[in-house]
This record gives sequence, structure tokens and C-alpha cells, in this order.
Amino acid sequence: MKKLTAIILFSWASFPTSAQGTTVLENDNLRAEFNKQGALIRLTNRATGWEIVKRKSLGQSFELLMPWPENDIRFNVIEGVKQKAPTIERKANEIIFTWKGMRSPSMKSEADVTFKGSVSLTPEGLEYKGVVINKSPYPIEYVSWPCLGEVSIPDKSRPLYHATRQDTRELFPHFFSQHGYWGVDYPTSTYPLTEGAFVLVNNADQGFVAYEKNQGQRLLIASFELIPGFELRNTNPYGDEMDGQRVRIQFKVNQVIYNSQGETALEPLVLSLYKGNLFTGIDKIKNRDKLPAAVSPSWFSEPLVWQKINIDKASQLIEHAKESAPLGIDGLQVRGWYSKDKDGVHEISGLAEAIGKCHEMNIRVVLETNWTSIEDHPEEEKYLMLDPFGLPYTASVICPIDDAARNKALQDWGKLQAFYAADGFINNDNNHQNKSYLCFSKKHSHSFGAPVANAALLMDKIMTEKMKSFGKDKIAMGYGFTHQQNVWYNGYQIAVPPSQFYKHRFLSPGAPVFLPVDAKEARKNINDAFLFQFNPAYDFRLKDYPNIASYSKKVRSFMQRHKPQIWRGVIQKPDEASALGDNLSYSVWLDEKKKKVVRVANVSEENECAVTIKTTAPAVFIVASPENPEGQPYRESFTIKPLSIAVFFEQ
Ligand SMILES: [Zn+2]
Repeated sequence: MKKLTAIILFSWASFPTSAQGTTVLENDNLRAEFNKQGALIRLTNRATGWEIVKRKSLGQSFELLMPWPENDIRFNVIEGVKQKAPTIERKANEIIFTWKGMRSPSMKSEADVTFKGSVSLTPEGLEYKGVVINKSPYPIEYVSWPCLGEVSIPDKSRPLYHATRQDTRELFPHFFSQHGYWGVDYPTSTYPLTEGAFVLVNNADQGFVAYEKNQGQRLLIASFELIPGFELRNTNPYGDEMDGQRVRIQFKVNQVIYNSQGETALEPLVLSLYKGNLFTGIDKIKNRDKLPAAVSPSWFSEPLVWQKINIDKASQLIEHAKESAPLGIDGLQVRGWYSKDKDGVHEISGLAEAIGKCHEMNIRVVLETNWTSIEDHPEEEKYLMLDPFGLPYTASVICPIDDAARNKALQDWGKLQAFYAADGFINNDNNHQNKSYLCFSKKHSHSFGAPVANAALLMDKIMTEKMKSFGKDKIAMGYGFTHQQNVWYNGYQIAVPPSQFYKHRFLSPGAPVFLPVDAKEARKNINDAFLFQFNPAYDFRLKDYPNIASYSKKVRSFMQRHKPQIWRGVIQKPDEASALGDNLSYSVWLDEKKKKVVRVANVSEENECAVTIKTTAPAVFIVASPENPEGQPYRESFTIKPLSIAVFFEQ
């Protein structure tokens, strides 16, 4: 019987549906089975055997959120599986479902809304596309597509994680719930894909990842819900049922469209299933990104050390430069150099000349900027971003989507002389300050509920081009809010916990990244900068901490000495080699000659650690450290002092 089913499935082109009334997409990697209602009732990772959706009765298709004014029902969810069956059109590797007329149990009559959703089988996985045609008078706020009725746990003896560019959290056995119990029906974890770049579910050897096929134009929110809830505090139920309800983790990607009428196309979204660990999944995002990364001037691609400073007089800049040069600092990252009032943005006087003096001392200057923030300024209130209720999210962030607001900001900043005298800028606009993902101002030049991220990218682009028009050696940086910013920005200042550093470096192998160094954690931060090829940026006056300054100089000259092996390498997946021992953190690289380089830090503040390097193929290593920079042959084990580093070079 199984063979017969297989034959029927493989000859789909001529059979619209199988004997069971299901439609199947399958290749060597995956198998997806949809029923007559358009619900995905089975999804299998064929490379590993994981049945991600395995209980047919939990199958889901799509959801719409359409607030229903007649009974004042804000949360009016239209569930695809409760609608009339769709028409199903089968092409070679694509299924197109068309649902016509939408109704929830709260609605007296059907709304004239059509959702045409397609699923295609591509070499990357399943590609979801869709169009909403709204002829009803009611706005549709979001469409969930895809919508997986369950993400089963592949192996209950091991944890299952979910991750984005910024986070890694547990799904099982301790479901990470980020929203208050008063705001959601079930424990829920959500991620805007703008910042997250992707959402990935994995254990140590298998997973799936959802990501936008192209650079998205909308706000997408991925969500996980643990239904019916926790069994114990923060712990998932282990059984299949609890209190008569089926236990499941539901996964959706909500495309926020704010469609009031007419046709809206969804962003194509890829669901890719794989065998391997987290980094195998991230590789898929790297492969998607055909976008060229910004090319940096040669000076900026060096192992530079930065000092962060705050000034209110131009003379202070020169003082900082004088004290920084002998400490091995290459550049100053400057705050406080401008003020804002009703006439716009003003730089402190004499700053352009002071920057010239820094250059004479071989000290670079990068100015911190905020394009979209304003300070208590009634005339600019019309530019503020508004929430769905027509109130400003904050009194200080203007809307980059509004042409007038954006142009005003660009004009103000374009007038500053210091801006062009400097080596570059680092822009600290937080795209989504105070959860301002969308702007709902009806007086702005955009639609109601327009997404902010794309306009922020547009500002990044305009200002970067402006800066670079003043010299090809100029650089532009951001704060790493979105992965897409790397198309315009040469690099960014990292703002995630150390547990996420490997992922960031792996996603953006060549980008210069500033790592703020805190006085209390200085050695740890310097060592992390070494592990992940970041540029330390001292957030305190380095001159006042001679021990840290001395260690900083030692590590810097060590990096300079081994630049071809250390600074010009490409990071690899962490399982390409391992550094065994207590309290270790490590990273694996290939140098210019394709030899393995393993960088190791002892993170213990008290204990020495004996390190053993393991590789899949036998290899001979030289081990070097800032204390012993020329290196020595490595034999079986090498001891690293507390809060110190070593690097192992394959010969
Ligand atoms: Zn706006």
C-alpha cells in the first residue's frame, strides 16, 4: 500500500489530489502534505525523519486579523481551516489555494475578502507567497502565512531552541515566554523579522529556518505559542495532552499589511528544513544574501582600537587625541559634538579644525549621529511617529517614512562642516524605539500603518552616499539594528550579549564591528574582541586604567604581528574544531592559506585552564599568546592563565 501511495504522489502532474484528498510537495529534503481545507497536515524533514507537523488534526492553513466594528471586536481572527474549502490549483512544483469570503464566529455575515496563497517546492525549501484581495469595508491588519499547527519536539531528551540574529532561546523543555500573562492567551514568544533577520528552530543536529526571500518591505512578526500552557513554572508539558487539550507549539509568521481595500501581495517567505546545527541554518541566510556588503577603505579594515569620548568643546577633542596616541588608540568615537534647537542641528565651534589636528596625530575621528531624534521642539511635532490611536510613541522620534520629516532631518545634518571633516559617522537611530514599528499618522506622506524599517534604511543610504561623496576614505556605521544595514554601512557597534557574538561574526564575516569595552569587564571584552575579530571601543578613559591599557597594547601588537593568520581569516562553524577544557570560549577560523586557526580565551577570573585542541583530521599546531607572541609547538595540552588568550595555528 505504501508503494502505491508513493507512485501516486510522484505522478502528481496528472492527478489533482490523491485518493485521501491530500496534495503533496516532496523532494529528498522534505515532504509537505495539505488537505482539502488547504491545511498543512504533515510536514517532514526527510534528511532527519523529524515530523515537524505530525498530528493531522492540528493542521492549519492561514489566519487573518480583521477587527470587526459591528460588535466592537478588536481581536477578530479569521481561521483558514474554518472557512469554506479553497479551490486548489496544482502546477509542477506549486500549489495555489484560493479562499473566497471570510467569516469568523463573531461575524453575522461573510466579508468579501479573497486570499490566494501559494506554496512552492524550491531547492531551498517551501516558498510561501500570497495575495489578499479585500473588497470589504474592513481593514485587514495581518495575515499569518505560513501557519504551522504544531512544531513537534524531535527528541524530548534534549532541548529545542529558537534563534534569530539577536537571540537564542529555549522552546523545550523551558518555553521562553516574553509577554505578560495578561496580554496573551498562551505563553508566547515573538520576533520582528526586521531585527531578527530570520527565525530558526533547532537542536544539536536538525532544524528549520524561516526567512524572507528578498529584502522585505513589510513588518513580519514570527510567533511561537505554547498551547494550552505550562505544566510547571516555565516548563512545557511532556505529554501529548493536558486538561483534555492537545499540547502543541504553534508557529506563525504574521505579515502586517494594514490593508483597507484592494490587493496586497505578501512578502515571499522561505521555510527551509535541514540536517545540522544552528550554523547550518544560518548558512542558508548567508546564501540568500546576494546583496553586496559595503566595501571599506583599507585603513578601516585593520585591527583598530577606539576610544569613546563625550565632548562639549572642540579643545577637548585635541586633548583626547594627545593622550590616546601613546596608548595605542587609533581613533575616537565622539558623542556630544552637536546640539539641537528650533533652528536645527549645530556643531560645537572649531570642531572641523580640531578634527584636522587629530589627523595630524594619526588619530581618526568618527562622529556619533542621530538623524531622527528631536528635542522638545513644538514646530517639529508634526513629524513625530504616531501609534494606532493617533498618539506619539515618544516626544523625540520623528518619522523617517514621511518625506517632509526625512528631508528636514537630512537638510539639517547636511549643513554640518564637522560631519565632512571627520573620517565617518556612526548613526545611533534605533529603528524601533518604543516599539515604533509602524507609523499611523494620517498627515504623513505614507499609508496608514507603514513600516519604519525601510525608511530608516533609505536614510542610511542617503547619508552614507553623502558622506562618501566627500572622500572615498570616509566610512559610515550603524548600531547593528538590522542585518540589511550592512549593505550601506561599513560596520556597526554590536549591542547583543556575548552569547550572540559568534552568530554575528558568522553572518557578517568581513564587517568591522566595534565592541564597547566596559571598565569592570575590560579583559573579558578585549578577549571577546580577539575571539571574534571585533574592534575594542573603550567606554571609559583608558589613560586612567594603566593595567588595562597595557593589556590592550599587548593584544593589539599581537594581532598586528600575526595579521595574516588572525586578522585576514574567515570564521568557520564552531564544530570545525574544538577547544576542550574548563571555562573556555573559542572560535574557529581559516587563514589566508586555508589553514585552521583556533582562538581560545580562558574566561575564568581565578583558574588556569589546560586546553586541548581537537580537529576532525589530524593537524599540527603552533600555539602563541600575547605573552609568548612568537609561539611554540603545541603538544596535547597548553595552559592559559585566567582571563587570558591563546591562538593555535595549524602548520
Ligand atoms: Zn509617519
